Amino acid sequence: MAAAQTDLIVRDSIYIDGAWVASDGKDSIDVENPATEEIIGRIPAGTASDVDRAVKAARAAQDDWAATSPEERGKFLSRLQEAVTARHGEIAKTIAQEMGAPIKISEMVQAGLPIADIATAAQLATSFEWERQIGNSTVVIEPIGVVGAITPWNYPLHQVTAKVAYALAAGCTVVLKPSEIAPLCTFLLFDAIHEVGLPAGVVNLVSGDGKTVGEAIAAHPDIDMVSFTGSTRAGKRVAELGAQTVKKVALELGGKSANVILPDADLAKAVKVGVGNCYLNSGQTCTAWTRMLVHSSQYDEAVEIAAKTAEGYTVGDPFDEGTRLGPLVSKAQRDRVASYIETGKAEGARVVAGGDSQPLPKGYFVSPTVFADVTTDMTIAQEEIFGPVLSILKYEDEDEALRIANDSIYGLAGGVWSGDVEHAKAFARKMKTGQVDINGGSFNVAAPFGGYKQSGVGRELGPFGLEEFTQPKSLQL
Ligand code: NAD
Repeated sequence: MAAAQTDLIVRDSIYIDGAWVASDGKDSIDVENPATEEIIGRIPAGTASDVDRAVKAARAAQDDWAATSPEERGKFLSRLQEAVTARHGEIAKTIAQEMGAPIKISEMVQAGLPIADIATAAQLATSFEWERQIGNSTVVIEPIGVVGAITPWNYPLHQVTAKVAYALAAGCTVVLKPSEIAPLCTFLLFDAIHEVGLPAGVVNLVSGDGKTVGEAIAAHPDIDMVSFTGSTRAGKRVAELGAQTVKKVALELGGKSANVILPDADLAKAVKVGVGNCYLNSGQTCTAWTRMLVHSSQYDEAVEIAAKTAEGYTVGDPFDEGTRLGPLVSKAQRDRVASYIETGKAEGARVVAGGDSQPLPKGYFVSPTVFADVTTDMTIAQEEIFGPVLSILKYEDEDEALRIANDSIYGLAGGVWSGDVEHAKAFARKMKTGQVDINGGSFNVAAPFGGYKQSGVGRELGPFGLEEFTQPKSLQL
C-alpha cells in the first residue's frame, strides 16, 4: 500500500449557506477502502431537516445567482477549475482509496474528468445561446431554479461535477447528496468551492444515505428539478417522489451496452479495446461494453483473443504501478458479481477466463472474467452486472447483430467496428442507444451523454447538458 492513507479522514460537517456546519443528526457513516477492508473515513449521516435548511439557502440565493451574467458565472467556474486542479493529486489518491480505482486511472479519469467538466461548463456559460428569436417571439433561456443532485460512487466526482458545474453555469443553485459509499472526494470539491468564494447558498452539500437524504431531496416541494445518477431501482423511486410536486426529473441509470464487431473490422484491435472498455473501473462503468457481438466465422478467434487479453489484466492493490484492475467497491457489489458469474455458468455459458470471485485473500476483488457461448436470453446478457465480466455473443448476419444489440431494456452506449467508417455509422444509426463509439472513438466531455429506454431520461454534458438545467420563456412582440 505504497501511497495509501493511514489516518482516518473525518469530515464532521456539511456545507450549507456558504459555511461548514453541523448536521442536525448525530450519526455518521464509515467509508471503507475496498482493497484493504479498512475504515478510512467518516462523514455525517445527514437528515431531512438538513435538506430543508440547504433548500432554504439555495432558494434564497437563487434569484441573485440567476441574475449574474453568464460571464460572471463563467469566471467563478474558471476559478473553481483552478482550485480543483490544485487538488488533483489529493483527489486522485482519495478516490483510489475510497472506491478502488487504480491510481493511474484515478489520476487520468476520476480526477481528470471533473476538471474537464468544470472547464467545459465555464466555457459554455458564455458561448451558450441564452436568447433566440423565433418569428415574433424572443425566447429567453432561464435557469430552472433550485436543483437537487444525487450521485453514485463509480465516478464519484465526475458525476458530481457533470451536474453541479452545469447547473451553476445555467444560473441554478444546488443541493447535492453524493454517494455515501465514496463521498470523501466531494468534500475536497467543497473545500475548493469554499475557497473560491461562491456566494452563500449557491451550492450546498448534505451527505447521507439515499433513503433519508436522497428521498428528502426528491420529495422536497421547493426543489424545481432533481438530477439523479445511479441504479434504475433508485431512479424509479426518485421519479415517483418527484412526480408528487411535478418537478423535472433527469435520470442517468444503468446500461448493458453492445460492442458490435462487423466482419470487415480489425478483429484483434476491436476485441482488445472492447475488453479494456468492459473492464474499465473494474467493470463499474454504466457505459461499459459488456456484450461483445462477433460474426460466427470469427467467433472462436475473438474468444481466444479476449481470453488472452483478460489474463493480462493484473488484479491488485490500486497503488501498485502494475495493477490494471482494482477491487469492486464493496462486499455487497463483489457478492452480487459473484452470483452473476454463478448464474452465467448455470445457464450454460462457458468461462474462458477468470471466474474467480476471491482471487486475493483480502479486498473485494473479482478476476477478469470472459464468458463465451452467451445467448441473448441469458441473465448475464440482459442484466447489468457492474463488474469485470464480459459476455461474447455470436451473430450470423448484420440483421441479427442489430436485433441482439437492441435486445435490451437499456440503451446507454455501444461500439461499432468496421473497416468502412460509413458502414459503421450506418449501423450505429440503427442502434437504440445514446452514444456509439465508432472504431474506438474516444470519450467527448462536450457530447450529449444519456440513455434511451430504461437507461434514463435527459442528457448531461456539453450544450445539451446545460440546456437540461434551463427552461425557455417566450416573449411575443
Ligand atoms: P444507487 O442507485 O444505489 O445510488 C445512487 C445514489 O442514489 C446514491 O447517492 C444513493 O445514496 C442514492 N439513493 C439510493 N436510494 C435512493 C432513494 N430511494 N431515493 C433517493 N436517492 C437514493 O446506485 P449506486 O450503487 O451508487 O451506483 C451504481 C448504479 O448507478 C449502476 O446501476 C450504474 O449503472 C448506475 N450509473 C449510471 C450512470 C449513468 O450516467 N447512466 C453513471 C454511473 C452509474
